[in-house]
Amino acid sequence: MASVAPLAQLIAVAVAITMTTGVLTFRRRRETPAALPLTAALASVSLWGVSVVLQNADLPARWLDLTVFPQFLGVGGCVLSLRLFVDAVSGRTLRARRVLAFSVEPALLLVLLALDPHLHLFHATVEHVGDPVRRVVTAGPLFWVNAFYSYAVILTAASTIWTLRRSSRGLQRRQATTMLVAILVPFLCNLAVVLPGVALAVDITPLAFAVTGVLFAYAVLQQDLLRLVPVARSLVVETVTDAVFDVDARERLVDVNPAGMAVLGAGAGPRDTVVGRPFADLVEAAVAEAVAAGEGETVVRLSGGGHLDVRTRWIRDDHGHPLGRVVVARDVTDRYRAAQALERANDRLRAQVATIERLQADLAEEASRDPLTGLRNRRRFVDDLSARLATAAEAGHPLSLVLLDVDHFKAINDAHGHAVGDDVLVEVARALGAHARPEDVVRYGGEEFVVLLPHLDTDAARVRAEVLRAACAGVRVGIESLRITISAGVATAPAHGTTPDELLLAADRALYEAKGGGRDQVALAD
Ligand code: GH3
Ligand code: MG
Ligand code: MG
Repeated sequence: MASVAPLAQLIAVAVAITMTTGVLTFRRRRETPAALPLTAALASVSLWGVSVVLQNADLPARWLDLTVFPQFLGVGGCVLSLRLFVDAVSGRTLRARRVLAFSVEPALLLVLLALDPHLHLFHATVEHVGDPVRRVVTAGPLFWVNAFYSYAVILTAASTIWTLRRSSRGLQRRQATTMLVAILVPFLCNLAVVLPGVALAVDITPLAFAVTGVLFAYAVLQQDLLRLVPVARSLVVETVTDAVFDVDARERLVDVNPAGMAVLGAGAGPRDTVVGRPFADLVEAAVAEAVAAGEGETVVRLSGGGHLDVRTRWIRDDHGHPLGRVVVARDVTDRYRAAQALERANDRLRAQVATIERLQADLAEEASRDPLTGLRNRRRFVDDLSARLATAAEAGHPLSLVLLDVDHFKAINDAHGHAVGDDVLVEVARALGAHARPEDVVRYGGEEFVVLLPHLDTDAARVRAEVLRAACAGVRVGIESLRITISAGVATAPAHGTTPDELLLAADRALYEAKGGGRDQVALAD
C-alpha cells in the first residue's frame, strides 16, 4: 500500500467512524423512516472520504483521475440524503417525486463529470505535479454551480431543523441542536476548502463529516434520536381527529392539522393560504372569543347548532415568555345532545318520582282517614296510642280515653234508612270534634268512637266524657230532627292498663256496663 499524507490518515480514521455510525443507523432502519436516509448520507460521506484519502495516497496519475467520480458521487449522495433525512425527521413522508427532484442535479453533475476531460466545465484545468504526484485543479463554472446548489440544499435543511428546534422542547430540542451542529460543521469546513481566499490544499470536509458521524452516533445511542425522532410528534398532530391550531403571539395561525381544516370549512381555502392569516378571521366569533379568553376549556355553541369543545394552552419559551398558543378543538355535538337528552329525561323522571311520592303520601293519608266523617280511623291509631302511652308514662302524666257507642243505632238505620244513619255518624263526629283536638278523635268502628284525653286522670276524664255525651245528645239529624243518645266507657292509664289493648279492653268493659245500666250514660273502668 502506498504511503498516505498525515491529514489523509486522519480522514481515514474519520471514514471508519462514519461507516461505523452508518452500520448502527442501518440496524435501526425499521424503527424510523429517518434511518435509511441517514445511513445513505453516512455511506455517501464515507465514499467521499475514501476518495479524498486515495487522492492523497501515492497513486499513479491515471488512478488519481479515477477518484474524482466517486468523490462527487459521495458529495451528491450526501447532499441528497441529508435533505431526505431532515424531511423524515421533520415528519415529511418520503415521496418518489421529491427523491427524483433532488436527484436531478447530482445525476447531471455525474454525467458532465464523466465528460469533463473533454468539456473542462467542472475542472477548468487539471495538472499532475510533484512527487508523489498530486492533482492540481482550477475550478470551472460547473464546480461553482454545484457548490452553490449543494449549499442551498444544506442551508434549507438546516433551516428546517432550526424551525423544528424552536417548536420543540426537552430531549427533542437537544436532538434538534445536535442535528443542527452536525449539519453546519462540515458545511463551514467545506466553505473553507472551497472559498478562493481560504482554499485549503486538502479537502477536509470528510474530516468534518466525521464530527457529523460522531454527533449522529451520539444522537442515535445517547439521545435515542432514531427512536424518538420528532417525526412521531408531528405525525400524531397530523392524524389525530381533534382539530389542532397553532396561533402565534400576534394572533396569526401558524399551523393547522387536517382535522383543523375540516373545522375551518371549505370556505377557508387550502391549508397554505390560511396559514399566516389572523386566527379570528378564520373561525367563528364564539371560538375566537373562547381562545382570546386565555388558557382553559370551553364548550362553544356554533352558529350551525353544533358544539365545539375548545381547549387553549400557552406555548412558552424556556424563559416563560409566551410564543403563542395551541388550540385543540373537538366536535362534541353528539355528546352534548346526548347529555342534554339525558338531562331532560332525568328532569322528567324526577318530576314523576315527585308525583308518585305525593300520590303515595295522599294515599297513606287517605288510608288512615275515614271517608265518611273525615276522622282518623283505627288503622294507625293503635300504634299511635302505644307511642303516646309511652311518652305519657315517661313524663309521669295520666292519659285517659273514652270509648263511645251510639245507642240503638241499628234501630235508627232500620227506621230511617242507612243514609240517615250515616248523617248521624257525621254529626256525632262533628260534636266530638268540637270538644277535642282532631288527632285525638278516632272512628273506631261502625258507630263506635274513641276520644283521647291526654293529661286527664279518671275524674277529669269522666267530666269530659259527660261533656261529650251531652254534645252528642244535642245532635239533631234530618227534617225530623232525629235525636240520639250515646253511651261511654272511660279508662285511664296507668290505673286501668299500660298498653293499648289493656286500656281499650277496660274502656269496652265500662261501655258494656253503661249499656247495661240503661244507656245514655258514662261508666268508669274498674
Ligand atoms: P246498642 O245500643 O247495643 O249499641 O245497639 P246498636 O243497634 O247500636 O248495636 P249493634 O252493634 O247491634 O248495631 C250497630 C249497627 O251499626 C249495625 C250496622 O248495620 C250499623 N252500622 C255500622 N257501620 C255503619 C255505617 O257506616 N253506616 C250506617 N248507616 N250504619 C252502620
Ligand atoms: Mg256498637
Ligand atoms: Mg250502638
